[in-house]
Amino acid sequence: MLLESDTKSVEEFRKLLDASKSIVLTTHHNPDGDAVGSVLGLFHALKSVGYPVIAVTPNGFPEFLSWIPGSDQVLRYSEQKANAVSSILNADTIICLDFNGFKRTEEMGDFLAQSKAKKILIDHHPNPEDEFDLQFSFTKVSSTSELVYEVLTSCFTDDIITSDVAVCLYTGIMTDTGSFSYACSRGRTFQIAGELISKGVDVETVQGLVYNNFSADRMRLMGFSLNEKMKVFHEYKAAYISLTKEEIKRFKHKIGDTEGFVNLPLSIKGIVFSVLFVEHDTFVKVSLRSRGSFPVNVVSQKHFNGGGHINAAGGKTFMSLAETELFFENLLKEYSSELNNS
Ligand code: 5GP
Ligand code: MN
Repeated sequence: MLLESDTKSVEEFRKLLDASKSIVLTTHHNPDGDAVGSVLGLFHALKSVGYPVIAVTPNGFPEFLSWIPGSDQVLRYSEQKANAVSSILNADTIICLDFNGFKRTEEMGDFLAQSKAKKILIDHHPNPEDEFDLQFSFTKVSSTSELVYEVLTSCFTDDIITSDVAVCLYTGIMTDTGSFSYACSRGRTFQIAGELISKGVDVETVQGLVYNNFSADRMRLMGFSLNEKMKVFHEYKAAYISLTKEEIKRFKHKIGDTEGFVNLPLSIKGIVFSVLFVEHDTFVKVSLRSRGSFPVNVVSQKHFNGGGHINAAGGKTFMSLAETELFFENLLKEYSSELNNS
C-alpha cells in the first residue's frame, strides 16, 4: 500500500483534523473532474465522521460535473468572495487538492498564503512548492482522487467510503485517466476503481453523465475545430487547434465545452504532441498533451508560463492568438529532433 511507509504523516493528518474547528478543502482554478472529485470525495467522507468541513473552489466548474453529489454545497470564491475569504482566513486546517502551489488558485492564492491555518497538500503533480505543512505528494498515482482513497483508507476504516464518496472519487480517477486509458499503468488504480464500484458506483451512469451529456453546440464546435481549425505537422509528429473568442462565442460556448479537444489530434497515426489554444480577453489559454516521453510540462514551464504532468500540461500566453500560433510553429522546429525521437 502506497502510504504504508508514511504512517507518521497519516498520524499527523489525523491529529490535525482532530484538532480543527474548521477545515477548508480546496483545489485549483478552473477545476476539472479530478479536482472536483477529490474535493467532494474528501468532503463527504470527512463530513460523514463529523469533521467541520467547507469546500471552496476558486471559480465555477463545467456543466459536465454539475451532477456530482455535493456540487451545490461548494463555495465558489469568484461568486461568493467575502464568504470564501472568511472561511479561508478562519480555518484551522486547509487541505489543498490536485495542485502544487497557491498560485494555481489565481487570485484566491493570496488568501491561502495569508491564512494562519495548517496547510496540507494531497496531490500528484511533480515539484510541489515549499508552502505546505504536511504533504501527500505522489506522482505515480493516476489522480488526486486515487490518492484521497489511499489517505482515507489509511486513516479510517473503509466504511468511510460511502456511495457518494465512491462516486466522487471514481469520477476523478475516470476523468484524469481518459476512462482508464492512460496514466494508470499501476494495477492499484484498477483495484481502487473496483473497490469504489463495490461501494455503489454505476460505471455506465457516471461515464454517460460526464461524456454523453454535451450540448449540440459543443459537438458542432468540436466538428468545426477538427475540420477547419486543426493544423497537422507530420514532420514534427505534432498538431494544434486554435480557437478565437468569436468562434467559441458563435457556438454558444459554456465553461468546459473545449475540455478534451486537445486530446483529439493524438488519435492521428504518428502524432505524439498536441496543443489547443483558446483566445480569452487578456490571454491565450494553452493546453498541451503528449504520448510517450515528450515532456509537455517542461515545454509549458519554459514557454507558456505554466506546468503540469509529463503528458498533460497547461499554461497561458499574453501575445495575440496569431502571434501565439507563429511562436508555436517556430518552437516546433526547436523541438524537432526531440519530437522525432520520442
Ligand atoms: P488543462 O490543459 O486541462 O488545462 O491542464 C492539464 C494539466 O496541466 C492540469 O492537470 C494541470 O496539472 C496542469 N496545468 C494547467 N494549467 C496550468 C497552469 O497554468 N500552470 C501549471 N503549473 N499547471 C497547469
Ligand atoms: Mn489531477
